[in-house]
Amino acid sequence: MSKRGMLIVLSGPSGVGKGTVRKALFSQPGNDFQYSVSMTTRQPRPGEVNGKDYFFVSKEEFEQHIREGQMLEYAKYVDNYYGTPLKYINDTLDEGKDVFLEIEVNGAMQVRSKCPDGVFIFLTPPDLMELRQRLIHRGTDSMEVINKRIHKAFGEIQMMQNYDYAVVNDQVDNAVTKIKDIIRSERLRVPRV
Ligand code: 5GP
Repeated sequence: MSKRGMLIVLSGPSGVGKGTVRKALFSQPGNDFQYSVSMTTRQPRPGEVNGKDYFFVSKEEFEQHIREGQMLEYAKYVDNYYGTPLKYINDTLDEGKDVFLEIEVNGAMQVRSKCPDGVFIFLTPPDLMELRQRLIHRGTDSMEVINKRIHKAFGEIQMMQNYDYAVVNDQVDNAVTKIKDIIRSERLRVPRV
């Protein structure tokens, strides 16, 4: 039997630039992993193509997919459903190809519980790491000033603990290089038995 492919999940807080990083990653020459096109009930934006950017479906259609167990994960995000169709993932992994998901954090945690062997990458805004460091060291410097931001970022920082890797999105090119490095090393990992 050929080796099953690897599942790579890129996730992170909203507004961190996951989509931009993913598009930059997939435009790299020699990219050899497959993108899982998500299903959503949101309206297409200008220029978006059905089947390429998303599978755009009605709420009824999406809910039918959920009922029939056809989604690996799904989440509601700003009043719309977003989810990962299961069949494409299974078929592609079975063919020995690596699959890449770019999804929000709630969906990523569902995937984590179903596919513990996946590689989970958390994309963080640059200052989140700084905030985290300050929290860890019980920052003596002006906590009151950064308190509000820490409060907002706290849930997001906690989510990071559930991932295998954290990549700071300081510059898109840097983030892409780091993600490629992670995937390269994961491919060299000695299989767990
Ligand atoms: P947008 O509407 O900007 O394309 O996406 C909104 C959010 O939904 C982004 O954070 C994106 O990563 C996330 N998203 C896209 N596809 C999926 C999916 O299949 N599942 C989940 N859980 N989130 C998704």
